[in-house]
Amino acid sequence: MATSKTKHVQTLILGGGITGLATAYALQKRGMSDYLVLEANPVPGGLCATTTQNGYQFDFGGHFLHLHTPKGKKIVQELLGTNLKKHARKAFIYTNGMKVPYPFQSNLWALFPEVRAICVEGLKRIEPQTPQNFEQWCLQSFGWGLYEAFFRPYNEKLWGKPLRELSCDWCGPFVPAPARKQMLQSATHKPAHPQGYNAAFYYPKKGGIGALIQALVKQINPVRLNSRLTHLDLKNRTAWINGKEKITFDHVVNTLPLPDLVACLEGNATLKKSAQKLESRPVTIYHLALARKLEPFHWIYCPDPAQPFYRVGMVNSFYPEAVPDKETSLLWVELPGQIPHTPDMEQKIWNGLYQKGLVNEDDVSLFSAWQDVPHAYVLFNAERAQRVPALLAALEKQGCYCVGRYGRWEYSFMETSLLQGDQIAQKLANLL
Ligand SMILES: Cc1cc2nc3c(=O)[nH]c(=O)nc-3n(C[C@H](O)[C@H](O)[C@H](O)COP(=O)(O)OP(=O)(O)OC[C@H]3O[C@@H](n4cnc5c(N)ncnc54)[C@H](O)[C@@H]3O)c2cc1C
Repeated sequence: MATSKTKHVQTLILGGGITGLATAYALQKRGMSDYLVLEANPVPGGLCATTTQNGYQFDFGGHFLHLHTPKGKKIVQELLGTNLKKHARKAFIYTNGMKVPYPFQSNLWALFPEVRAICVEGLKRIEPQTPQNFEQWCLQSFGWGLYEAFFRPYNEKLWGKPLRELSCDWCGPFVPAPARKQMLQSATHKPAHPQGYNAAFYYPKKGGIGALIQALVKQINPVRLNSRLTHLDLKNRTAWINGKEKITFDHVVNTLPLPDLVACLEGNATLKKSAQKLESRPVTIYHLALARKLEPFHWIYCPDPAQPFYRVGMVNSFYPEAVPDKETSLLWVELPGQIPHTPDMEQKIWNGLYQKGLVNEDDVSLFSAWQDVPHAYVLFNAERAQRVPALLAALEKQGCYCVGRYGRWEYSFMETSLLQGDQIAQKLANLL
């Protein structure tokens, strides 16, 4: 392997997404400024970067700040100050001709009477058992009526797998499972308060979610952009950038997708074999600007198989500056899997939006763009449950600390990235 120069840092941070930047910020705050963030892309931020094209600003799908801990809130407030606004969620499920407020299971009043009757019957017949997989978890939590009306079609579309092949160790905090009594009550009474972990969310007033990234970047050492980790020798504490430049380190914090990190390792054949078994579900995002101001909504779930997308959002409903002309709208459309960026697919998306009443025959497209998210959703299955804890422990034993949604191969959000960045910085500070 050719080497040109060698630099040494105390802490090498792999990946300049929110987790890597939050780690750098937390080290900086502790006075541990001998670190370097390596980022493969020409811009920092990873999935939290905001892109501006033709005057339209968009994120990788919706990137809302769900702040549930005082610490997470404090870090965001430190970084964004007054550039932050709280929004009450306006989200719905459009399925089989019904428009149901999210979460579906808390709004049975909004269903067609025959569907409502089936859901109520299903809820009454639940016989509690310990669920062994995601299908059983849904059936135990919501009954077979709700399972067939929403949970099965939506989740099969999103995950691309029968739900019995997925585990249920991730759903607790992310899928609202109200008490059965509460769901039954919602058949006759509209709930007084919105339900679920995301009933309200925060979003920057200016700059898109990328404002948070810019605020982090301002506080830390310059991020090394266009710098891809290609090889990592944990024994000799050495990393190679773009296949040629060598860098040595005392500590290494990884935020790259776990299988990608393991593929870069020197040796470690057993870990490599294990990491190859990990699966994820890619997502493709289509951004579409329309020459008309639509009725505002934040996002809509679309479980029906007739449409190629599972969710549609409207950026200007919570961020008016996303569009250059206030009489226009900017939608993002989330499609499950790796979808070809073709005119034929654009037509299918239009048809789907039309079927859902989201666009008219006369609507005019002003702008469109595609984005790919290769690992978007980590697949929670038996392989993950069996392999990830052992992989993380083996890496930590070799002094490589994994953090973030993809580093730990988990289902988590931006707040988790900020908190994990802070925790790992504290752990490294304790080692000094
Ligand atoms: C469709 C979608 C919607 C979401 N919505 C929300 C939401 O509303 N709210 C929320 O809180 N969270 C949301 N999330 C989750 C959120 O995006 C992640 O939790 C967060 O972005 C993870 O940040 P990260 O830095 O760990 O990973 P990433 O953003 O993936 O950053 C990793 C970085 O590593 C870089 N990299 C990769 N390989 C290499 C290499 N070999 N060398 C150097 N650099 C490399 C990448 O370029 C990237 O910049 C959503 C996720 C998706 C997919």
